[in-house]
Amino acid sequence: MATAGAILSGMGVGLNAVRAEVFRVKPAQELPKAHKHQGDSEGEKSILKSAVSAVAEYLDHLGEKAGETSAEIFEALKMLLEDEDLFETAAAQIDEGWSAATAFLMAVDEFGELLSGDAAFEERLADLRDLAKRVAAHIHGIHLGLDLPEEGAFVLVGEDFSPADTAQFTKAVVGVVTLKGGPTSHTAIICRSKSIPAVVSCSSAADLIDGQMVLVDPVGDRVVVDGDESMATRSISFVAKSVEPIIPVRANIGSLSDAITAATTAANGVGLFRTELLYLSATAMPTVESQADSYTEILKAAPEGPVVVRTIDAGSDKPVPFLNMPHEENPALGVRGYRLIQEHRQFILDQLASLEIARERSGREVWVMAPMIATSQEALEFAGLAKAAGKFKVGVMAETPSMVFSLGDLAGQLDFISVGTNDLSQYLFAADRMNAALGALLNPWQPALIRALEKIAADSLSGNISSGVCGESASDPAFAVVLAGLGFKSVSSSMSQVGAVRTALSAVTHEQAESIAQLALSATTAEEAKSKVLAALANL
Ligand code: PEP
Ligand code: MG
Repeated sequence: MATAGAILSGMGVGLNAVRAEVFRVKPAQELPKAHKHQGDSEGEKSILKSAVSAVAEYLDHLGEKAGETSAEIFEALKMLLEDEDLFETAAAQIDEGWSAATAFLMAVDEFGELLSGDAAFEERLADLRDLAKRVAAHIHGIHLGLDLPEEGAFVLVGEDFSPADTAQFTKAVVGVVTLKGGPTSHTAIICRSKSIPAVVSCSSAADLIDGQMVLVDPVGDRVVVDGDESMATRSISFVAKSVEPIIPVRANIGSLSDAITAATTAANGVGLFRTELLYLSATAMPTVESQADSYTEILKAAPEGPVVVRTIDAGSDKPVPFLNMPHEENPALGVRGYRLIQEHRQFILDQLASLEIARERSGREVWVMAPMIATSQEALEFAGLAKAAGKFKVGVMAETPSMVFSLGDLAGQLDFISVGTNDLSQYLFAADRMNAALGALLNPWQPALIRALEKIAADSLSGNISSGVCGESASDPAFAVVLAGLGFKSVSSSMSQVGAVRTALSAVTHEQAESIAQLALSATTAEEAKSKVLAALANL
């Protein structure tokens, strides 16, 4: 048990502290071991059928609760779960004498082996295994839900939370602490968008027990056992000195409902529209017309200002089933993002054509960019395709270390670049962004990342290329000041952070931001960079 006053370090998400009682998420009850049935194969098959339907219904329910972006994910999972071949494989095992629950778990394993060449499927296999456990649990009457309280106020403590878990968060969840996970983990992104204070990557939270009071202090990157609100690290209360921030603050979106929400913020347009999120559950290649329709709706709904649209960034952490991408040992280093041009050139061309139709119909200013560009040659090839396709401003994402050293070759040839710090950190530090154990390396305050950003901003400036940052790091108000000071011309933040980032960037002058960026550049550790910047901001 953690003792009163103990400080548990992690990485904070959000700007407000909260004090509440710990609610530990219980480890799920064990499922019975593999076993045979009593001889009634047909009875077992119908038990299996109704358990699959019950879990499919549960996914519908989660999808409704989670909102549009996540609903797509649940829809895709449901299709996998209800796959007829999967059921037939399980039925064959039932005919061999295995019980319904055992047969279904075996069928998922068999499927995993059979489809081991299909990268899109492999990435969903862990989710399907989780669903198979839910089917087995349903059959055995075991409850796998989080069982969160509906009333009161609790700090949820657990290893890490999946999309199925976060969809169950009730209003009683006022804070979250995870032992694993990093700043770009699902839990961090959801907590940021729901404004729930969180500390992730906090391994010593393993010692917390139910009922203990804790202070979740995200600005201090810590949890204080039995701490009270007076101990909370004050988030700097920025006092705006001007009406407009020193650089524009745009919003990140992935769907129509995001565009509508973003339009209720003060965002100056959209700095990253993640188009692949529209295709997560598509089973066939969408037509130009249907894409043009959805882009038109989204462009019309988006907040005033330019809309930066990213062409499909499928692969690795973003599986898109209809592209049938081949199995790769190392998908984050594989054929993903713009590299899909090798096999799916037409899809990228169709996307650009659809965007041009939508641009004309909506009358909006559209910028297009390609993800995962690794050479100046690729950047120029994309720029050529995009310029030929429509009246866009044309750019690329800078999210591979090679781009840090390529912008000089692109002087005058691109309108803009946008830095994806989530992937840039992953590749710069050789730290898988999906690996919950590597959160500290993905911390944007790491000096090597800040120095890479300095070079990107400087080379863009001298090459007459407008530069922005759209990774999660741009959602941190203090970090956004550093970005402006390094010379970036815009940032694009999570919708919930647009207001806070705007205020921070309205509280400093360009000169102040520049000297604050120098402080960050002089640090040798992430902690030092952050604390120097926060101290300077507090003394403005
Ligand atoms: C990034 O890599 O920082 C980024 C903005 O893109 P995504 O998170 O969608 O890969
Ligand atoms: Mg990226």
